[in-house]
Amino acid sequence: MEERGSPDDGDPARSLEQWPEGPETPIQVVLRVRPMSAAELRRGEQSALHCSGTRTLQVSPPGGGPDVAFRFGAVLDGARTQEDVFRACGVRRLGELALRGFSCTVFTFGQTGSGKTYTLTGPPPQGEGVPVPPNLAGIMQRTFAWLLDRVRHLGAPVTLRASYLEIYNEQVRDLLSLGAPRPLPVRWNKTQGFYVEQLRVVEFGSLGALMELMQMGLSRRRSSAHSLNQASSRSHALLTLYISRQTMPPVDPGEPPVGGKLCFVDLAGSEKVAATGSRGELMLEANSINRSLLALGHCISLLLDPQRKQSHIPFRDSKLTKLLADSLGGHGVTLMVACVSPSVQCLPETLSTLRYASRAQRVTTRPQAPKSPMAKQPQHLEMEILQLQEENRCLRSQLGQVHPKASGLSGARVAWAQRNLYGMLQEFMLENERLRKEKSQLQSSRDQARDEQRVLAQQVHELERRLLCACSLHLPNPGPAPPCPCVMAPARPCHALPPLCSCPCCHLCPLCRAPLAHWACPHRGLQLPQVFGPKTPGGLALSAQPPPWAPPCNPDSAEFPRERSHSDWTRTRVLAEMLMQEEVVPSAPPLPMGPPDASPVLRGGAAVPNLARRLEALRDQIGSSLRRGRSQPPPSEGTRSPSRVLPPC
Ligand code: ADP
Ligand code: MG
Repeated sequence: MEERGSPDDGDPARSLEQWPEGPETPIQVVLRVRPMSAAELRRGEQSALHCSGTRTLQVSPPGGGPDVAFRFGAVLDGARTQEDVFRACGVRRLGELALRGFSCTVFTFGQTGSGKTYTLTGPPPQGEGVPVPPNLAGIMQRTFAWLLDRVRHLGAPVTLRASYLEIYNEQVRDLLSLGAPRPLPVRWNKTQGFYVEQLRVVEFGSLGALMELMQMGLSRRRSSAHSLNQASSRSHALLTLYISRQTMPPVDPGEPPVGGKLCFVDLAGSEKVAATGSRGELMLEANSINRSLLALGHCISLLLDPQRKQSHIPFRDSKLTKLLADSLGGHGVTLMVACVSPSVQCLPETLSTLRYASRAQRVTTRPQAPKSPMAKQPQHLEMEILQLQEENRCLRSQLGQVHPKASGLSGARVAWAQRNLYGMLQEFMLENERLRKEKSQLQSSRDQARDEQRVLAQQVHELERRLLCACSLHLPNPGPAPPCPCVMAPARPCHALPPLCSCPCCHLCPLCRAPLAHWACPHRGLQLPQVFGPKTPGGLALSAQPPPWAPPCNPDSAEFPRERSHSDWTRTRVLAEMLMQEEVVPSAPPLPMGPPDASPVLRGGAAVPNLARRLEALRDQIGSSLRRGRSQPPPSEGTRSPSRVLPPC
């Protein structure tokens, strides 16, 4: 006898309760042979399958060929009850693993009508809302009951959720969706692997709620009748329980809950269209089912390849293999329940299933419980995560300051920010107003300074005119006399006063020390009542004191006119001030110093040198006037009058 599979070592139920854990864990396979149906018995069919012990199945081919033996983790014949199957499958052990965070899968596999759905969920409901009798309840209901009871006695908070989907004609449909089932995409990412997007996951807290969810999914699942099964599933159905458990006591206060999964997969059965008599839509469904099962078989074959680590496993070939990828070749713990019919007519399909299951139980996975994200990270990565979290927090806070509404800031903070902005705006407006006023004051000061400057210039002009008139009145007799050096010499810019006379005089030009006109000579007793009046500011008669701008007589210096010095300019200024009888004081506030050639009009004090230049120019005019006068005959004494000698102003 040919034997395949693992050696029989005792009670399958007990052996599966002790679920092996290790780096490489094979897929556990339990074989279930359904009993002969009433129709098969009526036809007088004989069973070709014989159980030998608890883990071996012998197949006797019709026609007298050699028996073929298959060994599995457990072999259950048609006499075994649903409870026997549940215990033999070791589903409670799977549930424990799921509570510890493992990803566990139970899936049934076999020919259509071989009892897959029956094994998982019991017989089809006898009517709407009629529950499955408890003794006929399948693995799923029994697992649910056990799990809820286990959670209740666990003493730690556990969150239970469920999703239910079917793969029908290569489309994933949500059996728990609120509306009509619609196709959902299957995605992949690094952390989750393959997953169904937008799948509804429902939290439940009681066995009744979970049973309702299961019944809802079952009622919406596609099924049809054909010659081999009156309630043939036309889709693969996956019901998944998500178990989130907070360990007590928590190792870390921030420790995330441990998340395990327990998935029940009821595959649609492979079928020979000729045998089932499927036509039209049934035939399309059958082809789709067969294709996905073929893809599953192909993946299992490749997973058995010793070089599989280097080879590519085409999980993407079908939605079914995508969603079972982790169960078959990843980190899950997987149990396959292979279902076969005892009928000789189904023997070819049965042999195919047995071979298929034999291969599957040699496939290994690497079960791995998800750990705390923090526990999985090396220390330096933890630090980096903390730094990034802090940076993220800062950036969010900055973003919130820019877009307070977007960041969901409190109303008080928004109001504060708005008040601040409003306050800043007000401050700017006030400062603008103040600057405008200051500018206006400066402009008015500048205009006032210009006006005063103009008035002063007029006063100086008038004084110059009077001075010239006075000089004309005191002109000496036009007898022959040596010309004044001031006149003879070329006009030099240093003269503050014009050389008015041609007589030799002991008095000197206050600047260049050249002999000046006799009117300025104190020895001649001349006065200048037109200019200064009878008294000087010092109370002395001008005849008794030298003019304030005149240096003491110095005959030596008279003979040697010297170059103009700084003190001369100072005297020029004094002279100008005396001429105006008041000091030129700037009336406008001091302005910033401009370039050296800036207009002196804007600076009240700077007008003095300007006046000196004006006087100098005046001297030139008078000099040239005198020269013109000498070249013409002098007017007679009788015809001289002040009005005629006044130069044009
Ligand atoms: P599959 O899902 O593999 O197509 P089903 O589970 O629908 O097959 O079973 C087909 C029929 O056989 C159903 O009427 C079911 O009640 C019956 N059946 C299957 N397994 C058993 C069993 N172990 N005991 C009694 N009836 C069974
Ligand atoms: Mg079925």
